Amino acid sequence: MKQTQAVGIDLGTTYSCIAWLNEHGHPVTIPNQEGELATPSVVFFDDHEPIVGTEALRNAIARPERVVQNAKRHMGDSDKFWRIGANRYNPVQISGLILRKLIAAAQDQIGEINEAVVTVPAQFSDAQRHATVTAGHSAGLEKVEIINEPVAAALCHVLGNEGLAFTELAIDQQLLVYDLGGGTLDLAIVSYSSDQVRVVASDGDLELGGLDWTQVLVDIAADRFLDDFKEDPRQDPHSHQFLALEAEQAKRSLSVRPRAAVTVQHEGNRRTYQIEQEEFEHLGRALLKRSNVITRRILADNGFGWAHVDVVLTTGGSSRMPMVRESLKKLSGRTLNSSLSPDQSIAHGAAYYSGMLLANQEYTRTIFDSQASSRLAHIQQQSVNARGLGILIRDTQTGDRVPHYLIPPNTALPASHTHVFGTVVDQQTKVHIRIVESGAGPGKPHTILGDCLITDLPSNLPEGSEVEVMISYDAQARVHVSARELKSGRSAETEIIRQENMAGQLQQEVDDVTHAAPPAKKVEAPQPAKAASQRKVETPPPTSSTSPKTTLSDEWAAVSARLSELSKFADSVDQAEQPVLLCNSCGTALGPKGKCSACDAAPKKRKRPTGVKRKSVQRTSASKPGAAGTAPAKRKRKKTAKTEAAGKSTNKQRSSEDDFWDLVD
Ligand code: ADP
Ligand code: MG
Repeated sequence: MKQTQAVGIDLGTTYSCIAWLNEHGHPVTIPNQEGELATPSVVFFDDHEPIVGTEALRNAIARPERVVQNAKRHMGDSDKFWRIGANRYNPVQISGLILRKLIAAAQDQIGEINEAVVTVPAQFSDAQRHATVTAGHSAGLEKVEIINEPVAAALCHVLGNEGLAFTELAIDQQLLVYDLGGGTLDLAIVSYSSDQVRVVASDGDLELGGLDWTQVLVDIAADRFLDDFKEDPRQDPHSHQFLALEAEQAKRSLSVRPRAAVTVQHEGNRRTYQIEQEEFEHLGRALLKRSNVITRRILADNGFGWAHVDVVLTTGGSSRMPMVRESLKKLSGRTLNSSLSPDQSIAHGAAYYSGMLLANQEYTRTIFDSQASSRLAHIQQQSVNARGLGILIRDTQTGDRVPHYLIPPNTALPASHTHVFGTVVDQQTKVHIRIVESGAGPGKPHTILGDCLITDLPSNLPEGSEVEVMISYDAQARVHVSARELKSGRSAETEIIRQENMAGQLQQEVDDVTHAAPPAKKVEAPQPAKAASQRKVETPPPTSSTSPKTTLSDEWAAVSARLSELSKFADSVDQAEQPVLLCNSCGTALGPKGKCSACDAAPKKRKRPTGVKRKSVQRTSASKPGAAGTAPAKRKRKKTAKTEAAGKSTNKQRSSEDDFWDLVD
């Protein structure tokens, strides 16, 4: 009989953690070989082998050009590489090495591990999820399941945590999960009712986390040093890295003390500066405002007021900062629930989910006692998609290709939607359906996931011939698309033809890099891409990137640039000094007299008592076509024909053959 364990891994931007469920169904964190419960997500390439964790972090000062940090911020970016000596490494390879380290230590303690649940931010795109799975395979896992981080936190809460496993919750609850880690802010509204954990909505920021607060301290100390010595320590990778580690320590001290020391050393000069908590909080307010905007957004976008939230559940290491807690308290007007371990709850939640997945299998009773296995078998979880899913269609007014989202964000999974589009020109013999996913937040550009092609259509089809497109997310948020020309019946379907064949392309490189890492067990090849011919040909990075100045400095420069962007943004947003009252009908911030401008302007939405299932957010998969983007609502074909006619002249001005593969709504 196959022996397996319920294992969950929190693959964090700055720290990673692995846990398993013991036979009683209790989550237990497994320490790494150095005895630490959390492992820094840092890789140091010494001359012989990759080293992961605290030792790697220590080397970041002496040999910054050989250290990679914060790889998760680049997950899914196929153009991102770190050049170390003669080799180059991408985010999947780096993540694979971190996972390998965690798994190796865990195997020493609990035996062979073939499968695991790995956590991802709720806002991760399809490509980023896929990259995470590939990293898991490269670390020797045969099967990798994914769970959204706030969902893991919610599971940890409802199933009990830290020694209180399987604590039953007395009442049905709506939770707001607030997870502020090192690199990301993840939010989710989660509804818990008798054995079901259901995500109502998720939101977040993939570029807001503890790193940004650390950068505030780096900038304070570096600016003072610059004043004193006319030299900027941020210009030198060694000095910069030393300062970043100092700032990280000081940041933690400032969570419990009114001031902390930061030492700067650069070009033979050394000085220690005292930084007051007040100054830190003042300069960090732009970051808090960003967090507040996203927190309000998740409620407003889903028609929630604070009265609908029973528990504000905090987790993630950065939720320890008093300024974060105070700000969230003011915003919500309520006490925060801090019962979760900020460092371990995500891994524990992933271990619970792993146990839930195993619970219905025949060998479950060899892993868990009967009480644990029956409890795990009862609990269900349902998630939502974070990104809208649709296709590019021709805007008949402008001639541009624009996204038409068929499945909006926060639709319960699995979900599918069918819509009929029209061909653009007479005698169109091919249809090129380009599948897109909305960006990570408002204003962020959409990304192209892949293509679905229908070829060899009959040559006599008139313009506006109907093509039915069916697009779906399965329960694991994998994308499926099919399309059919209704007259001829010609059809095509795909599970996404990737633009970047991440799995196949990266696997070889992952195998190359891990040659010196602890021996991997059998590695299952990830799913081959369906259209290798569409792989993007990579151009190697310029050789100048071997310069020591390119790695960590670039990382911190990016954080710094983002910070100044946020400071500008902060000036345009009000600080929440008081609890922000939100309309309990639509979630919009109430005006000074407690009136809701949105509800006064529009017909009132139906009120909903706390804890009661919300029809408006429990959309069926087909309930809100086009809601996520610029897409027009479904129109009758007659009207479409008219608008197509209007756009015809635009079409004719275009010469590319590809123009005649399009669809219009
Ligand atoms: P991730 O999973 O994104 O790596 P974690 O949830 O592990 O993030 O949290 C790590 C972040 O929490 C780091 O930025 C770290 O500096 C911050 N952190 C941890 N402890 C504290 C503390 N006591 N005060 C302030 N920040 C902290
Ligand atoms: Mg985390």
